[in-house]
Amino acid sequence: METTNLTTLAKVAFSNESAAVELMTRLRWPNGVACPRCGGADPYKITPKAQPGRPARRGLFKCSACKKQFSVTTGSVFEASHVPLSKWLMAIHLMSASKKGMSAHQLHRMLGTTYRAAWFMMHRLRLAMDSNMGVFARLTGVVEVDETYIGAKNKRGTKRGRPGLGSHKTPVLALVQRGGRVRAFPMERVTSANLNAAIKTHMDPNATMMTDDFAAYKSTDHADHQTVNHSSGEYVRGSAHTNTAEGFFSLLKRGINGSFHHVSKGHLHRYVTEFEFRYSNRLALGVNDSQRTEKIILGAEGKRLTYKKRSSHRAA
Ligand SMILES: [Zn+2]
Repeated sequence: METTNLTTLAKVAFSNESAAVELMTRLRWPNGVACPRCGGADPYKITPKAQPGRPARRGLFKCSACKKQFSVTTGSVFEASHVPLSKWLMAIHLMSASKKGMSAHQLHRMLGTTYRAAWFMMHRLRLAMDSNMGVFARLTGVVEVDETYIGAKNKRGTKRGRPGLGSHKTPVLALVQRGGRVRAFPMERVTSANLNAAIKTHMDPNATMMTDDFAAYKSTDHADHQTVNHSSGEYVRGSAHTNTAEGFFSLLKRGINGSFHHVSKGHLHRYVTEFEFRYSNRLALGVNDSQRTEKIILGAEGKRLTYKKRSSHRAA
């Protein structure tokens, strides 16, 4: 695929539906269109029949092997959406470029869709950003592990320290590789057992782990583990600190407080995924805006988010 062509195409694709379909097709199948059902590599383009009351299907193909029809959105988070692909591309661009995240209200105004459509689009795109559903290399080097609490505002505004038992806040754990990517997700309870499971899944066994001296971290069984004694007022001792993790949390919290006025517990993981994606694919790591857009489109494949799968959000 020629990069200059792609850039030109991307510019017109926000306002031109057939350019958007062409761009999506080229991003999804850089080596030629293949049937998502049987893998058949010899499909041919067909022209959709306009049916009364239903929009014509976009980028439609018929597989010469299994004889089934498919489109550029078949088997992806865009499937069965009535929103034009040009608006989807715009939404992807806006979400991948906005550091603090944007609200569904902002997106609905910018795209001219309904609020409900914008809200649902954003959740589908967060699913496309979810690296848990793909291959994710473990974090290496120096990895800071820390947790924050999201939920009702703390009246006294204490930043340090952990809420007591009976708190309605949800812990979000982050493992941040210094100078690298982050893995972050809500955790039901911050216990040594849960921490050990997360550490084993997301962190290389040879990584150096930095945490504070919270008891649950102290009793994890990672070999190379350094702690900083927050409980005695110590925040940095040489290279032992968790400032990188705290930087990630402050981005996440500003986003949640500023753009998403209330985030229900059932959807929190999707918002966290969005921040994890942008942080792990930031410019400092060599990923630019259009590469982020491309990653979201590639991540959209093989994932579906339907109304049934959504957690208990009342249809907006
Ligand atoms: Zn086929």
